[in-house]
Amino acid sequence: MEVPADVPEGEGVRIMLNAALRMAPHVILMGEIREDLDVANRVISAAFTGHLVYTTLHVTEAALAITRLRHIGVSSENLAAALRGVLAQRLVQVLCPDCRVPDLREETQAERRRAAWLADIEWLPMREVGCARCAWSGFRGRRIIYELLDIDRDVRDLVERGATAREIARAGVPPGRSIWACGLRLVARGVTSIDELRRVADPPS
Ligand SMILES: [Zn+2]
Repeated sequence: MEVPADVPEGEGVRIMLNAALRMAPHVILMGEIREDLDVANRVISAAFTGHLVYTTLHVTEAALAITRLRHIGVSSENLAAALRGVLAQRLVQVLCPDCRVPDLREETQAERRRAAWLADIEWLPMREVGCARCAWSGFRGRRIIYELLDIDRDVRDLVERGATAREIARAGVPPGRSIWACGLRLVARGVTSIDELRRVADPPS
């Protein structure tokens, strides 16, 4: 359902959500929440009535979605009560299998030593070159990298107490399951390059 263009966004979302709720849905998918507290609160209210609600936001890692919603004005109590999980995702370019070459640079090898959980994983990083088949870009296609912030009881307590994104990420996203770690697994198998991963995700600080 499209939100009418001739009414304020919060009011349009209210009309549409009320119409959707009368259809007794199991799941509601609400397009992007922008900087609108009224929209955010209406979506959260729909979750309070027992519906599974999905929505999207633009942030670079999962825990920052909580900071963003607080910044818009959603209360920590409402967030803690309504939120079940946050999936953050980015796309990385896939190295062209016809021209990629082993990445033997010392700085790339150093990435493995920085991540203790990588010790048991085969580490065969590759880097791009470029050939006719990839239009000399070195890449062909894209793959998703992601992290899931699971809101369990501990994380819920942190959200309710107004903890920082960093504290929430530390409790809810273990080092081996961060979006960076997800990308590093692709780097280890030569699917994407360490430079490409650095372009789309930040290493753990
Ligand atoms: Zn190529």
